[in-house]
Amino acid sequence: MQAELIFTGTELLLGEVLNTHAQYLSQQMAAHGIEVILHTTVGDNWDRLAEVLRFALERADLIITTGGLGPTTDDLTKDTVARVLGVPMVLDDPTLQRLREFMVRQGMPMPESMVRQAYFPAGAIILPNPVGTAPGALLEHRGKVLILLPGPPRELKAMFEESVAPYLASLGNRGMVTRIRLLKVTGISETAVQELIGDLGRQGNPGIAYLAKPGEVHVRISARADDGVAAERMVNGLLEKVRERLAGYIFGTDDDVLEEVVGQLLVRKGVTCALAESCTGGLTAARLTSIPGSSQYFLGSIVAYDNRVKEKVLGVPAATLQAYGAVSQQTAVAMAEGVRTLTGAHLGVSITGIAGPGGGTPVKPVGLTYIALAAPDGTCCREFHFPGHRQAVRQGAANAALNMIRLYLLAQLLSPGHLEGPWRPRLPAG
Ligand code: ATP
Ligand code: MG
Repeated sequence: MQAELIFTGTELLLGEVLNTHAQYLSQQMAAHGIEVILHTTVGDNWDRLAEVLRFALERADLIITTGGLGPTTDDLTKDTVARVLGVPMVLDDPTLQRLREFMVRQGMPMPESMVRQAYFPAGAIILPNPVGTAPGALLEHRGKVLILLPGPPRELKAMFEESVAPYLASLGNRGMVTRIRLLKVTGISETAVQELIGDLGRQGNPGIAYLAKPGEVHVRISARADDGVAAERMVNGLLEKVRERLAGYIFGTDDDVLEEVVGQLLVRKGVTCALAESCTGGLTAARLTSIPGSSQYFLGSIVAYDNRVKEKVLGVPAATLQAYGAVSQQTAVAMAEGVRTLTGAHLGVSITGIAGPGGGTPVKPVGLTYIALAAPDGTCCREFHFPGHRQAVRQGAANAALNMIRLYLLAQLLSPGHLEGPWRPRLPAG
């Protein structure tokens, strides 16, 4: 079954309101195994809406419209649908009765314009609005299904859950079922991910897609089949192959977030950590503390933005700052060790970099960041070059710092007490 979604409202075209229905309804369609082939946004304009509806009726089996069911003159959807289908508008007495009762409860007279809400294209099944006054409608017309939903998000969702979802489920297995899984990786670029797994699949079925986020890449694996079990088997088969190839970079799947994964590892090891953040300004701390229960393992963060704070609070030697600068391996190491000593945490992690857009030089360009991790068995520091604008550099740096903690703890889990591979303590010169 193929669906087309039509969003009405001039406010959407003006950019005054973000079209959140697009995401919500598309997700619902995917969950019901319905393929969405087109999204169209159209203003409160009778002729253009009619044109869009006519095209949709030619292309799709299911058409869902949102908005324009209210009482005002710019609410045109039902009238336009009636005109396009060539059916009259008819009064629905039970709806009129409900509207009257609603107004009585409000203690107000019923405005004439409100009566419009009780008219529907002939043949419509009326969808109750559990949280508002304007009902929706469902029409089956020459093998096609048209569903008219209200604009306000709360009303749209309530009506979808109460009436539309059961209806779609009752259609049975008319179409294909889609299953989607996400593999989340960090510490590797989108291009490098594609080089490692590109040969395993593209946009086919099952298919692979890449979603780059600041500091991480999500690999979406999807499959369509006649039933859920078959689709799941296809997705999981491909997922395992991708998992093998990207093993060292995967930090989670689906709804996992890096800060939560790191938190779970810290709990498992009984390890505490503290941060010294310069260019991220507390971003990493905000992410760690967004996880409930983080007080078990997170002691705090010093936002050491100015050199005087690096020196006076964290104890970075003035000579180090003078000789190597605030964005250097030496300063990062001193910051990490400083915050570890200051707080008594098992791990001290520091971030110092150039977030931009200004402040870069040929030797130290925008994006250059040093992240150090001080542990009981030594301190290591890594140099990163994060691409993109200020927020992307900061997000990338926060991710890399969280990932350094994750990799350190994983190495510790594999061989307790020993640091392996890149985690051998490496003390900088100077
Ligand atoms: P009402 O009875 O409130 O007039 P309606 O069904 O006529 O409802 P609209 O008038 O089209 O709906 O939209 C009402 C409000 O719903 C808009 O002002 C907007 O804030 C919100 N809305 C409409 N469409 C969307 C959308 N696609 N995404 C998010 N919000 C939307
Ligand atoms: Mg309206």
